Amino acid sequence: MRTFFNILGIIKWLGLIGIIGFITDNKPLSLFFLFFLLGFVDIFRNPAVFLQSLYMLLGMPWIHFKHRFNLPSIDNYTPQTDFILPFSGEWLVVNGGIDKQTSHSWGIPNQRYAYDFFIVDAEGKSFSGDNKVVENYYCYGKDVLAPADGEVVSAVNKHPDSNVYGNGTAECKAHDIRGNHIIIRHSKKKYSLIAHLKPGSITVKKGQRVTQGQVIANCGNSGNTTEPHIHFQVSESKNFFASASLPIKFKNVIVKENSKTRTEGYISRGQLVQNGG
Ligand SMILES: [Zn+2]
Repeated sequence: MRTFFNILGIIKWLGLIGIIGFITDNKPLSLFFLFFLLGFVDIFRNPAVFLQSLYMLLGMPWIHFKHRFNLPSIDNYTPQTDFILPFSGEWLVVNGGIDKQTSHSWGIPNQRYAYDFFIVDAEGKSFSGDNKVVENYYCYGKDVLAPADGEVVSAVNKHPDSNVYGNGTAECKAHDIRGNHIIIRHSKKKYSLIAHLKPGSITVKKGQRVTQGQVIANCGNSGNTTEPHIHFQVSESKNFFASASLPIKFKNVIVKENSKTRTEGYISRGQLVQNGG
């Protein structure tokens, strides 16, 4: 089923050729637009999520344009080290980094510097027992912390958890790919987003001030996710779809890397990380 819908995703892209056909008044090319309509089968599956995919698609060129095709990077943007990891204890960086190789999704500018985290055991497994039960994942229900001081600008707490299939399948049950999520404004151009939170676990409200390290929710599996994890990113604005994500330099971070530890810096995929004391 999943492959089928992935193919539909590609088909939609072919539809863009059709739009070029219309613009250039080229009839054979215009026929490609039929592919776009075919891709609309998604609308019946989850209309809200389909619309979000469309926003994301439109947001991509917009973000590039806004930055004059020079997106924020560690070369042209100096992050302040005012963030801590949004959890306690040691977690694995499943996805994310500051370069193309480790990035959460380099080609998608609104999530280029996003991170996914979960907890693993000594064997590298993220669950024990039946992998189709969300509660069996080590990180499920764990506290989520405010990564820095700020004001909550969005706290969405109405989505159910998605099912876990244990085979990498993501089936978004929510009407938002982020599921339950919190957006915190730290400064004029710095907003953090923490997504896939556990239903009913959010303890903060829009407009509320939070302090770094404060418990604000629990880790869950809501939204477009294959298994419980924390998705964390920092963006230029609260508009997830139309703003560039920013590289994050953590303060007081303990990174296990060849048995060395460091107290500040960038983290990337495959590292075990935790907040320092
Ligand atoms: Zn993610």
